[in-house]
Amino acid sequence: MSEMLVIGAGALGLATAEALLIRGAKVTILERAQVGQESSWAGGGILSPLCPWDYPEEVTRLALRGMGMFAGFAENLHATTGIDPEYQRCGMLVMPPFDMQAANQWCAQHGFSVEQRGDALLLPDVAQVRNPRLLQALRTRVESLGGRIVEQCTVKEFILDSDRVKHLSTSQGDFSADTYIVTAGAWSKALLGDHALHTDIKPIRGQMLLFKFDTPPLPHIVLQDGLYLIPRRDGHLLAGSTLEDVGFDKSTTDEARATLLQRAIAILPSLKDMPIVKHWAGLRPASPGNIPTIGRHPELQNLFINSGHFRYGVTMSPASVEVLLNEMEGTPQPFDVSAYRWR
Ligand SMILES: Cc1cc2nc3c(=O)[nH]c(=O)nc-3n(C[C@H](O)[C@H](O)[C@H](O)COP(=O)(O)OP(=O)(O)OC[C@H]3O[C@@H](n4cnc5c(N)ncnc54)[C@H](O)[C@@H]3O)c2cc1C
Repeated sequence: MSEMLVIGAGALGLATAEALLIRGAKVTILERAQVGQESSWAGGGILSPLCPWDYPEEVTRLALRGMGMFAGFAENLHATTGIDPEYQRCGMLVMPPFDMQAANQWCAQHGFSVEQRGDALLLPDVAQVRNPRLLQALRTRVESLGGRIVEQCTVKEFILDSDRVKHLSTSQGDFSADTYIVTAGAWSKALLGDHALHTDIKPIRGQMLLFKFDTPPLPHIVLQDGLYLIPRRDGHLLAGSTLEDVGFDKSTTDEARATLLQRAIAILPSLKDMPIVKHWAGLRPASPGNIPTIGRHPELQNLFINSGHFRYGVTMSPASVEVLLNEMEGTPQPFDVSAYRWR
């Protein structure tokens, strides 16, 4: 049985590990801190690009495939673990300003349902999941399939033997396997050092606010000019988010809190009287054009990456794992994947 080491236990690392375990591999995940506490935890769980018509086809293809796979992915996690990731097709209402013509054209071209609501557009098929629950379910699933997870284990260096990785040097000693997969999110490039080659992944901070109502105050996700409100089933409401280029700094700021609050109240005035339950920040693995890197290292035969999904890593995760495994197994891809190759 082939042995795999996965570096980083966010949504991408856990979903990659699950798929490898299902195929019979022996999988160990090395996680610097604790499972699912970084970007994948911090995100909103919207299963769609915000304004899909604003993105290149390379993003659309992967996102649409992930969106198509997600109901089954979430249902299977729920059925096998008993943990409900709360997948729900709640729809997303896009309010002006946005390019109505481009939006309608994109939806028609991609067979994406759309309903005109005055000067807004409802995308009824957009779904959401609840990130912490998705991550808990993934962890339980990986462990129940026999995957090993080593927490508090920082990978420091790749030790090579000609064109292969021989072992990893970590804070808990050396680890070796047949194959190594980098799923270290915003830290992927820093971790790889010179081996990153031209892969350009850097942290972009996003801050979020959380509120709690007795019942959901909105029937859909609402998006206006980059600010979104996400109603959870139990009355929690998320407002996000910022896009800040501040390096590996995960602190929250009073300025972002005030701006997010003011913009959220403009959409939903009843927020004015609601206390903020929580305010947090996460570091997205940002990549040029929001196009992730998925696949084999061009020089090191047994090194792979699945990272750089920037704003849509949860949405893309099942499709991204599919593309990676097809490449590892040499099976045909569902579409042209050349844009995701490691250069
Ligand atoms: C505020 C915000 C809102 C978002 N909203 C959405 C949304 O609505 N929909 C959507 O699809 N996406 C959203 N995203 C983006 C999405 O969260 C990310 O694209 C996705 O979670 C990236 O997953 P990942 O597994 O690559 O990274 P992460 O979840 O960050 O996981 C990487 C893991 O690697 C570990 N690691 C790093 N270095 C090492 C090392 N040297 N050794 C061992 N382990 C290491 C880290 O500790 C971490 O646990 C949002 C992100 C943010 C921050």
